[in-house]
Amino acid sequence: MKPIIVFGSINMDLVTKTPRLPAAGETITGYNFFTAGGGKGANQAVAAARLGIPTQIVGCVGGDEFGRQLLADLQTAGVQTDGVLVDETTSSGVAVITVDDAGENNIIIIAGANGRLNKTDVERLGDRLPGAAALLMQLEIPMPVVQLAAQAAHSAGVPVILDPAPAQTIPAELYPLVDIITPNQLEASQLVGFPVDGEEAAAQASAVLRQRGVGSAIVKLGDRGVLCATAEETFFVPAFSVQAVDTVAAGDAFNGALAVALAQGRPLREAVVWGAASGALSAMKAGAQPSLPDRKTFEAFLRERGLGAN
Ligand code: ADP
Repeated sequence: MKPIIVFGSINMDLVTKTPRLPAAGETITGYNFFTAGGGKGANQAVAAARLGIPTQIVGCVGGDEFGRQLLADLQTAGVQTDGVLVDETTSSGVAVITVDDAGENNIIIIAGANGRLNKTDVERLGDRLPGAAALLMQLEIPMPVVQLAAQAAHSAGVPVILDPAPAQTIPAELYPLVDIITPNQLEASQLVGFPVDGEEAAAQASAVLRQRGVGSAIVKLGDRGVLCATAEETFFVPAFSVQAVDTVAAGDAFNGALAVALAQGRPLREAVVWGAASGALSAMKAGAQPSLPDRKTFEAFLRERGLGAN
């Protein structure tokens, strides 16, 4: 089977739990600390690999203990990591996350090794593109390399799926290189410049994104569902009704499963349903990578909801 290639960020999440967030200059006592693999690139690679499709990640970690741990965790999840460069001169990307009892959080991301991805890394990626099912990217790596990578995939005839997260402006030249763009509500609002707060606004936003040159636009509307606009049709897929625990990485779960379904040759409408199912399953479990479903859980969920996986 053709592999999915992810070109993106690999971070160590440093998570602190505290009763409340500290004010500026204040010292408070938290009650829990843990580290977990993260970064949107790594999360989406794990989301795809857990569903049983060959998945490679191309990226960079630092020559530190976090880098070694991150690579080992990706391999355990079934992600092929020989496209990841270990840069001894820099530190691995980290996200310093503080979460309080009300679920409010503060996050500081230090790009580290992710921020030094450059033209040479795109060349490394280019060697892997021929025969790939799709190139999956996000925006936690420098925009110029995202653009170069999209160009390389486009030239190689490999579909580009772009998750424009975290929210930021995208250069006009990038849109026509993107086959499928998958913003959430906030990211869609940022891209189009008007609030995207429901199905109708999402349809308008996806029309704007298509006018800018993307093939299909998929707007993720959290627990409401997904709006998808292609050249042929615009349709809405409601979210699965589930008991949500936290929605961290729901969007990453969505993108991984979307890419897997497309790699298996499924129609876009079914791929969107797969994305929604994976997003819902991820919302049912705490954390980022630990919440991403494996193939067995995923198929059982689809069967339970009257949808076969075959
Ligand atoms: P992001 O994580 O990028 O903000 P969303 O929160 O929109 O993205 O989640 C991605 C998709 O996951 C949604 O479009 C939806 O299909 C599914 N999803 C997210 N939260 C829930 C939820 N509480 N219940 C059911 N499905 C959900």
